[in-house]
Amino acid sequence: MSTPHVSGPVRVRMAPSPTGSPHVGLVRTALFNWAFARHAQLHGGGGTFVFRIEDTDRERSTQESYDAIIDLMRWLGLDWDEGPEVGGPHAPYFQSERGEIYRDALARLAESSYTYDCFCTNEEVDARRKASGSKVMGYDGFCRDLSAEQRAAFEAEGRRPVVRFRMPDGSITWHDLVRGDVTFETRFVPDYALCRANGDPLYTLVNPVDDAYMEITHVLRGEDLLSSTPRQIALYDALKELGIAKATPEFGHLPYVMGEGNKKLSKRDPEAHALAYREKGFLPEGLLNYLALLGWAIAADRDVFSMEEMVEAFDIADVNPNPARFDLKKAEAINAAHMRLLTLDDVTERVLPFLKDAGVLSDPVDAADTQLLERAMPLVAERINKLTESVDMLGFLFADEDTFTRDEADVEKLLNDDGRAVVRRSLDALERVAEWSAGAVQDALQAELVEGMGLKPRNAFGPVRVAVTGRRVSPPLFESMELLGRDRSLARLQSALA
Ligand code: GLU
Repeated sequence: MSTPHVSGPVRVRMAPSPTGSPHVGLVRTALFNWAFARHAQLHGGGGTFVFRIEDTDRERSTQESYDAIIDLMRWLGLDWDEGPEVGGPHAPYFQSERGEIYRDALARLAESSYTYDCFCTNEEVDARRKASGSKVMGYDGFCRDLSAEQRAAFEAEGRRPVVRFRMPDGSITWHDLVRGDVTFETRFVPDYALCRANGDPLYTLVNPVDDAYMEITHVLRGEDLLSSTPRQIALYDALKELGIAKATPEFGHLPYVMGEGNKKLSKRDPEAHALAYREKGFLPEGLLNYLALLGWAIAADRDVFSMEEMVEAFDIADVNPNPARFDLKKAEAINAAHMRLLTLDDVTERVLPFLKDAGVLSDPVDAADTQLLERAMPLVAERINKLTESVDMLGFLFADEDTFTRDEADVEKLLNDDGRAVVRRSLDALERVAEWSAGAVQDALQAELVEGMGLKPRNAFGPVRVAVTGRRVSPPLFESMELLGRDRSLARLQSALA
């Protein structure tokens, strides 16, 4: 597939509707547009990433959803050049504040007969379709050429019209940047409404009108919007005639994201909620890297990359049109790889809010805990795949003896009679250790449990680990006990026996 290489300044946009919790598909769209603009900034004639809020559906748009989208974009570091909070030459970037622009466009379209008033009810349209046996869904053009008398009769009945766009005859073809040539026969694309009977403009109008005024050069968006593209291209032709649009943008439709059971990932799927990944302790760079793989690859043999590398390499022509499968395991693995790339200081800084939120650390952290955390982080940083895992790994170290708890399942499994016998022998052996260090603890336990009791190391240290850290998974045992100190370690062994 050959795609014209992009040259000259590009302007792309993301145009979310602030309804509900932002979806990972929205992030993927934002990311590809952002990477496209940033790549063009570096290597083309310039790139601008526009962010526009499509909030014309007043019933479904909420402040909460808008706030979540902004919060998400900031967390991910997907910065925009024009839009909410930053402004720009095409402000306002909220469609709810652009009513005048849409009314003007509607009036000019009507004046040049690109549109017509339609008085039909849905029931009437359905009844006519049934009667004619037509397979074409949608409007049948009944009101295209109403006479003045017909119009007056409808108005006398108290009907209020919607405004419909007159689709041209023939076919519409565009060269999709992802899918190659796409053609629609317009007899399957019925005349569509641009506004409601109360005059409220619809997505069908406001989206292309804004793209025109904002001089968007490339529309990169999900495949679910493919069927609106022939309608928008036809409308663009009218907008160009009217001097509202300079040019029709190029379109690229990003592949569907599939969830479980080969069904489109829907808002109802828990893994669809983008902000949940932050709560789950994902790194923004891990999530972005994973979402980039939903349709794009930096190289055949490479999955892990930075956003700088993506920007450098990104070409919309390389996006694969086939549906992409959302795979949580893979997302976690990619995130883990990014955890490994962070410096120790960076991991420490990023786990802090999670440790505070969970109550492991106080806010602000006191000096003693800060020191302890610094000593503990080298043991933990390489063992966690998500920031949240630090809470379980470090909880034991900062817990008072009266708040310390053990995982019940782990206790049941490892602190049974045999396990408690191991803990008792450990306690005896450790009480004799004078110089408390990881090495001394290890030597004492090795001598007592492995050599003395003849246990395999795995069976020997498991019960001690659960007794001291509360869990079967913890930082290395001997170092953990060194950090915890002699008194607290012995107290935990004792309380495990109680
Ligand atoms: N507001 C539309 C949506 O969220 C934008 C569609 C588009 O990108 O053209 O689906």
